[in-house]
Amino acid sequence: MIRGILQLKQRVLDEIYPRICCSCGKEITEGDEHGLCWDCRADSVALGPPWCERCGQIVAGRIDHVFTCSDCEAHPPQYHQGRSLFHYEGGVREAIHALKYHRNFSVIPDLSRMLLAGVKTYFPDADGQALVAVPLHRSRQRKRGFNQDVELIRGMLKLDPRLKTWQGLKRIRNTDTQTKLSKAARKENVRSAFAVKKRSSVPERVLLIDDVMTTGATLDACAVAMKKAGVKEVNTLTIARG
Ligand SMILES: [Zn+2]
Ligand SMILES: [Zn+2]
Repeated sequence: MIRGILQLKQRVLDEIYPRICCSCGKEITEGDEHGLCWDCRADSVALGPPWCERCGQIVAGRIDHVFTCSDCEAHPPQYHQGRSLFHYEGGVREAIHALKYHRNFSVIPDLSRMLLAGVKTYFPDADGQALVAVPLHRSRQRKRGFNQDVELIRGMLKLDPRLKTWQGLKRIRNTDTQTKLSKAARKENVRSAFAVKKRSSVPERVLLIDDVMTTGATLDACAVAMKKAGVKEVNTLTIARG
């Protein structure tokens, strides 16, 4: 309902105002399927190998063999592989901010297209792999009115309707109110923040979609909950790594 109203409002605004790039403010002249202009998209710094085989952390220097970073050696993540597409800066960062904090839905096609390219590049075996959004807590969802990851997956489905999705993951703990906790306590708190809905049949493989990966603790916590419920393999794909 709220989403419908937001989209209608966006459509009205698009009619009244020409669409401008959320990052540089220039008018976008390449059709209305963009909220980020070509220059700002082209300016985004893509991540790529050599990187940690598990978490996708970039490794400086030349490495030809399969490499696991010291963090993943010490504490192997519960997800199988994590990949991020861009550095969290410039136009990509502005676009994610515009969506999350300013409800600028015009950037969804751009961001969804990036994610879809990531799926095709890093997780091309689409069969049996279900896209899953990192769920928001009920109170957070109510406040924001939408979940950016859900919207991004919707955008991906518009581009490729063959993609599968799964909505069985839920957030049972609101971890936004944990700023007073220590870093270790925060990590522990987020660890038990997710669960799989009762009576939900689980897919064999999951590709968890999120906007930004920072420490990876949230993605890992989602993987813990899904694997506990019987998902065999969890991979993660984020637009950016901060
Ligand atoms: Zn721009
Ligand atoms: Zn790693």
